[in-house]
Amino acid sequence: MEQYLNPDTTGRMYIDGSWVDAESGATRRITYPFDQRHIATVAEGDERDARRAVEAARRAFDSGPFPRMPAPERGRLLRRLADLIEQNAEELAALESWDTAKTMVESRVDMEDIAGIFHYFAELADKHGGEVIASPIPNTSSRVVREPVGVCGQISPWNYPLLQASWKMAPALAAGNTIVMKPSEDTPLTTIRVTQLAEEAGFPPGVVNLVLGPGPKVGHELAASVDVDLISFTGGIQTGRSIMTAATSNMKKVAFELGGKNPNIFFDDVDIDLAVDYALNGVFFHAGQVCSAGARVLLHESIHDRVVEGIVERAGKIVMGDAFDEKTEMGPLISEKHRSKVEGYIALAKEEGATLALGGDRPDDPALANGFFVSPTVFTGCRSEMRVVQEEVFGPVMTVERFSDEAEAIRLANDSTYGLSGAVWSRDQDRAERVASALRMGTVWINDFNVYFAQAPWGGYKQSGIGRELGPAGLEEYTETKHVFQNHATEAQNWFGNGT
Ligand code: NAD
Repeated sequence: MEQYLNPDTTGRMYIDGSWVDAESGATRRITYPFDQRHIATVAEGDERDARRAVEAARRAFDSGPFPRMPAPERGRLLRRLADLIEQNAEELAALESWDTAKTMVESRVDMEDIAGIFHYFAELADKHGGEVIASPIPNTSSRVVREPVGVCGQISPWNYPLLQASWKMAPALAAGNTIVMKPSEDTPLTTIRVTQLAEEAGFPPGVVNLVLGPGPKVGHELAASVDVDLISFTGGIQTGRSIMTAATSNMKKVAFELGGKNPNIFFDDVDIDLAVDYALNGVFFHAGQVCSAGARVLLHESIHDRVVEGIVERAGKIVMGDAFDEKTEMGPLISEKHRSKVEGYIALAKEEGATLALGGDRPDDPALANGFFVSPTVFTGCRSEMRVVQEEVFGPVMTVERFSDEAEAIRLANDSTYGLSGAVWSRDQDRAERVASALRMGTVWINDFNVYFAQAPWGGYKQSGIGRELGPAGLEEYTETKHVFQNHATEAQNWFGNGT
């Protein structure tokens, strides 16, 4: 997979149809989280580069051809990009694994999803012809049309770099906006490559812009700029707060996908093997660095011990390793800084009185010593008020709570400032439906976990976010609604000037 790396050339930014270095000339080294190998060098932009990109996007929106292009033509451009992503899927998957150290199996699935997302929004581009309203006023007509919002700043995180970018890029472009994309400074490679493919697909200059660099500089500039009409952000809640404050500069529209602490609830009638399997899948996939990770496992007291026994037995056998090794089931965390945060939560859980049932340490295999690994970790005896239960750990750490009845399960699951997703497992269909409707979350799975697709909306209740990505709602985020009213009467009404 080294054939896809180019460590001696600098990955550049794409502004107004040209590939450019940072104005300061600064660069950043990108490393493979598995062993710290240098895999790429990329431009390290700052506020000046972000401003240049916003200016280009502004010009392209205000006077360029793209926002005025017939919607079917926009759809064709997106379809071409989707095809190019499919044709280059293996390279993109490898770059994603180099950047994040997630397994190639996972990255390949991501690329399939990403091509599907571009195809989906390509199809949706010309299906929004507007709506005729039955006007209450005689001899008038009334219709509602959807128009692009304008210049969209788009900031994505490191855990699913291209997947999260695609959830923003595809609908924004389908709706006719111009965009300035900013991937996480830790994982820019796939977003750079897809921007090259967007150029190849034929998007006019200034429509797709890419800026690279640190969030507090480049991302903040996008959030604060008065020339940006909408800021879409996926990332942590503290960053979301800062972006929301910056966005007040011009009261721009905000779309947020923030974190989650997602309950995975198992009732007493579930198959034990199934429960164990999906409890593990919910937490240890991508080493728990998933916004919808089911890190909060809730078990009915009558199955608690058997499920915990199965979880501990199987989690202890999870194979950690290199993303490109087919045997690997779980990779390392993204960075040393992030591992310190996760280890801080492990120490906190012990202080708070949780029982460490598995892991809690780093693996002792010398082959893993240069990666930011944390062993699969399970805490039992957890209570809802513990910080390790309430806060997003974003690592391979499961907390287990027990409940005695349906009402308690609902109360515990909803006892959270987050509301991204959750799952309920039961063969009793009525109970599953009751619980699903009581959960205050943007997505609820019944007898499954972590399923999402382009056709259905994704987003959070409470502090997990604002707005929705994917599905028709994901396209609407990127449109303004205009009411056009026409009076067909031909006679003057004599409103004014009728006095003596
Ligand atoms: P982060 O908030 O640190 O960074 C996300 C992005 O924001 C990066 O591109 C970063 O450069 C940028 N950024 C950082 N500071 C900024 C600032 N002051 N102004 C503007 N931009 C700034 O998050 P992360 O650590 O990269 O990602 C992990 C977080 O993302 C987790 O909390 C996770 O739950 C969340 N997430 C949510 C979803 C979802 O769909 N809800 C999906 C993936 C990740």
